[in-house]
Amino acid sequence: MSILELIKTRTESHNATLVAVSKTKPNVDILELYNQNQRHFGENRVQELVDKYESLPKDIYWHQIGHLQKNKVKYIAPFVHLIHAVDSWELITTIQKEAAKNNRIISILLQVKIAEEESKFGLSLSELEVIIHKLTNDPLANILVCGLMGMASFTDNHDQVKEEFTLLKTTFDRIKTIYFPENESFKEISMGMSGDYLLALECGSTMVRVGSLLFGSR
Ligand SMILES: *Cc1c(COP(=O)(O)O)cnc(C)c1O
Repeated sequence: MSILELIKTRTESHNATLVAVSKTKPNVDILELYNQNQRHFGENRVQELVDKYESLPKDIYWHQIGHLQKNKVKYIAPFVHLIHAVDSWELITTIQKEAAKNNRIISILLQVKIAEEESKFGLSLSELEVIIHKLTNDPLANILVCGLMGMASFTDNHDQVKEEFTLLKTTFDRIKTIYFPENESFKEISMGMSGDYLLALECGSTMVRVGSLLFGSR
């Protein structure tokens, strides 16, 4: 069994989606997985995402997984499948505007700060609540909120990572119950990377973002 098949089997047994994180890797590496039927790929730099979208097969679902600057939204708006790391109201309104220009509805995940480390992007729980409140009171026509995304601390401390993933899962469940009980689109919890995707799946992840385990170290 190839490493792709192994990770895919584990991911699918939890009814989750595997996003192959191909940042810094050349098209030949991506095609190798594509030829084994992998269709979801993730990038964190807009220019690289656009270049790869233009040169690779058009049935790939492209995920923007990293921090996104407002002034770059226009480049990915025509084709992006899902934007994972949305962490401000200003970014949401920019995505709305660019999606409308392209006559598209763009799917997004709201990034929640679950790690202890200061450096990580993401919304605090109260900021999240404010944004969800706004979005559900006055929905934006070209934005589809599909769930939450988070990044655990970069640590070997298994218990800490587990706590952080569990925080994202319980936050998702709470938001779902209060704001989206009848909304079938709000269903994704994007968490888990090469080092912790199994733990993330056990904690309720529906989408893992795996790079180095599939493509080798960067
Ligand atoms: C690079 C990256 C990943 C994948 O990391 P690996 O440890 O290589 O699996 C996942 N999510 C985000 C946001 C990333 O930037």
